[in-house]
Amino acid sequence: MKYIGAHVSAAGGVENAPVNAHKIGAKGFALFTKNQRQWNAKPLTDENIQKFKENCEKFGYGKGTILPHDSYLINLGHPVKANLEKSRNAFLDEMQRCEQLGIDRLNFHPGSHLNKTSEEACLKTIAESVNIALDKTKGVTAVIENTAGQGTNMGHTLEQIKYIIEHVADKNRVGVCIDTAHAMAAGYDFLSDDSYKKFWDEFDKIIGFKYLKGMHLNDSKKDVGTRVDRHASIGEGFLGEKVFKNLMKDQRLDGIPLILETPNTELWEKEITFLYDHIKLDT
Ligand SMILES: [Zn+2]
Ligand SMILES: [Zn+2]
Repeated sequence: MKYIGAHVSAAGGVENAPVNAHKIGAKGFALFTKNQRQWNAKPLTDENIQKFKENCEKFGYGKGTILPHDSYLINLGHPVKANLEKSRNAFLDEMQRCEQLGIDRLNFHPGSHLNKTSEEACLKTIAESVNIALDKTKGVTAVIENTAGQGTNMGHTLEQIKYIIEHVADKNRVGVCIDTAHAMAAGYDFLSDDSYKKFWDEFDKIIGFKYLKGMHLNDSKKDVGTRVDRHASIGEGFLGEKVFKNLMKDQRLDGIPLILETPNTELWEKEITFLYDHIKLDT
């Protein structure tokens, strides 16, 4: 079973996210558990938590179907100590929110070196940040999202992600989310059947499928290797429909959240239907 969904709105309370996901025919979803553009957030109330759990149960969103995204402000590899502390505290808060909501994974962008430290030092700092958060929480996996490699963002190569995983102490609670648009912008071409196979062979060799805890299904307005992060609706970018058909036929992607972050929310229901239609079709 593939848990296909979208990054839905949690406006008015986290408990609305599963309702919004159900409305578009999603079998999984992503959400922000707090305002993603602000550092501080009100704690979740008992009512938020209870209603979120009730709605997830009502609409069939069990473990492994929900992949929250952390705040865009957080930089777990920040080279300046005070800023790093702020990011680490905010990340811990987000991990704890997942714990409270019964969500088993949290997607995050690894971090940026801001030209103030080496890439390697930045990756080590990121891993240490993850270690700190894992030490203080239970049952939540920190899921590293591959990036497009814009600016000084780390995590745009499989080797960088592997390096972070190697430096995380609890290997059972670290994972990876592959964003198709980011991967392509970072230089990974999986447009043909051959290159598709090659990409995942490489993924398996360098990182390993056991670490794959989710995917972001986005087409890309930018071509291979541009290092620019611009999502497009499915079939309307440089990836094209074929890649998504290949992904749908790929059973290695069963049992994990597959999340659309495509720009036109009006199309989500159609995109989800399109994707489900291609799971069984031999095209
Ligand atoms: Zn992201
Ligand atoms: Zn993404």
